[in-house]
Amino acid sequence: MELSQLQKDIVELKNQKDVTILAHYYQELGIQEIADHLGDSLGLSRIAKEKAKTKYIIFAGVLFMAETASILNQDKKILIPSLEACCPLANFLNRDIVNQYRKEYPELPVITYVNSTAEVKAESDICCTSSNSVNIVKKISKEFGVDQVLFGPDKNLAEYVEERTEINVIKIPGKGHCYVHSHLSIDDIQGVKEDHPSAQVLVHPECEKNVRDFADYIGSTAGIYSFVEEHHIDQKEFIIGTEKGLLERLTVDFPRNNFYLASDGLICEDMKKNKLETMRMLLKDLDNNRYEVKVPEDIAEKAYIPIEKMLKFSS
Ligand code: SF4
Repeated sequence: MELSQLQKDIVELKNQKDVTILAHYYQELGIQEIADHLGDSLGLSRIAKEKAKTKYIIFAGVLFMAETASILNQDKKILIPSLEACCPLANFLNRDIVNQYRKEYPELPVITYVNSTAEVKAESDICCTSSNSVNIVKKISKEFGVDQVLFGPDKNLAEYVEERTEINVIKIPGKGHCYVHSHLSIDDIQGVKEDHPSAQVLVHPECEKNVRDFADYIGSTAGIYSFVEEHHIDQKEFIIGTEKGLLERLTVDFPRNNFYLASDGLICEDMKKNKLETMRMLLKDLDNNRYEVKVPEDIAEKAYIPIEKMLKFSS
């Protein structure tokens, strides 16, 4: 892989300074190529806590991910290449909504998907990701001795969990969804399958139920990557029902296989707001606070508990 001059500048600056670059799989390929660590929400949370020993962390992802890194690393400076890279799914839930449900169901645990704001995490009993959500819901409901839980903000992930447990999953709120995954329609996916009948269909649990039911495998972003890693020798073709950045990664890492995006709409415009040019600029001026993500100490202290509990439960 030949790096561009811009990428070389970034790597050189990074090597001169005390910086770790974390990038989500949904970042453009050029950013993925210069990252120290690449992963999905759970993987990057772990790395931010356990492996990123530098003074500065540049988080190429969306705001809630950089907030999570800040919660786990209050002593470090967390920078994001675009402060406008938000996750609209996270914005479906706020502290008031959580507290409203808590009042109505005081005996039930609140589980929040990591795709949530720091203030929402601070009001939660435990966090989860798409890869550990089923286990987390089972374990926390057992700990509380209940057969129902409050879960937000993604309604499709909530349904997915409910289908795999004996637990009634109450969605908070009822309408939270990811605009990227939930817009993947059954017609889109059936159309691609008709063109490639022997391809296996891999989708994310944030997709709608009829799409999930059509899939051969449902998993988190890292789960889909691992599935391909495990099956790429016997299986030549895969239809990818998650964000395009993962398909680009898979195409590079498994050059003998064929990957088809389930829909042209599988692009998270928010993730793509991070640019290599801004990363170079950030690296030249790391003490500029304009791109810093700092969760206030009181919120970080409270939000640390449910994240830490999730990491313990899923280790
Ligand atoms: S893909 Fe969906 S869940 Fe992920 S950051 Fe974009 S909007 Fe949020």
